[in-house]
Amino acid sequence: MNTKIFDISPEVIDSSLLLEAAKIIKCGGLVAFPTETVYGLGADATDAQAAEKIYAAKGRPSDNPLIIHIASPEDADRYAYTDELYYALARAFMPGPLTVIMKKKDTVPESVTGGLDTVAVRCPSHPIASELIRECGVAIAAPSANLSGSPSPTTAAHVISDLDGIIDGIICGGECEIGLESTIVKIDGDKLTLLRPGAITADALRCVCDNVEIAASVTEALAENERPLSPGMKYRHYAPSVPLVLLEGEPDYILTFLHNAQNAERCAILCYHEELDELRCERLIDIGAQDDLATQAQRLFAALRRADELECDVIYAHLPCKDGIGLALYNRLIRAAAHTVLHVTRDNLKHH
Ligand code: AMP
Ligand code: MG
Repeated sequence: MNTKIFDISPEVIDSSLLLEAAKIIKCGGLVAFPTETVYGLGADATDAQAAEKIYAAKGRPSDNPLIIHIASPEDADRYAYTDELYYALARAFMPGPLTVIMKKKDTVPESVTGGLDTVAVRCPSHPIASELIRECGVAIAAPSANLSGSPSPTTAAHVISDLDGIIDGIICGGECEIGLESTIVKIDGDKLTLLRPGAITADALRCVCDNVEIAASVTEALAENERPLSPGMKYRHYAPSVPLVLLEGEPDYILTFLHNAQNAERCAILCYHEELDELRCERLIDIGAQDDLATQAQRLFAALRRADELECDVIYAHLPCKDGIGLALYNRLIRAAAHTVLHVTRDNLKHH
């Protein structure tokens, strides 16, 4: 398939190009587009066959439901049974990186929701995403625009590398500002369950809803007795091709550990900006300053893709804290690492 590339600047949107891209979606085709979180792979959310093409293009299991993207918060009423809590969340966080799961209406085909009776709804703030949805006049179903098994794409180059020749169009519109997928919450009466952490933090949600529960799967491996180094099926989604090991412990010990590792093995390191001068300048990837979690989030998936391209036998990264957007970083990294965490102490430094 010949994939049409649309170069559109988010600052000055070329409306004739955008119209052409919208037309592809309205005719049942697939177009990748930028959002503030990651690039999405879009299809008409009311067209069952179009949605099915998404699963085929990505190689995604058909029971893993898609998020539908709307242009204004009140459009949710066309697809879901909204309530007061939804509108409170909408007032606080929309447009923006929050996905809300509610009971679905019949306008959404089951292929979009993976057979569930609920639907995930998000109203993105990125100007290209927003205009594209408005131009289509219908919700756009869109998972992240990567092949199943690679990290979510945060640049157009990532999308081209995964999906060129496989989908109808790709809108190239620069780097994604946030870099991690949206926060996902499920509404149950007056309770919110956080299913996936993102840039809208648990604390921010608690300003709108008294009852916010964080699902255990956000931080814990579900299969209790699994060996830490054998990645379960559910972790394969983000896993690099060589082992990723997350380091925790005293900063000085970790630095010494990394020094030793650089001498002993072919390792790639996702390091803090401050560590660049201290480590050997080889397979080093600057993830941002230690206290700048937003930059670390923005760079994470590109860093994992780069690390995977380097010839190395192991990748090391710091285990993030769980505060604020740190919880989202923690969640993505711990899954990519299949929960492999090494606690670096003075003792195990000697053994290395
Ligand atoms: P992606 O768009 O690739 O980030 O994937 C969408 C995420 O939303 C997946 O993790 C899905 O499991 C989740 N999701 C979408 N719809 C639902 C739903 N109705 N219930 C629970 N999770 C959902
Ligand atoms: Mg995804």
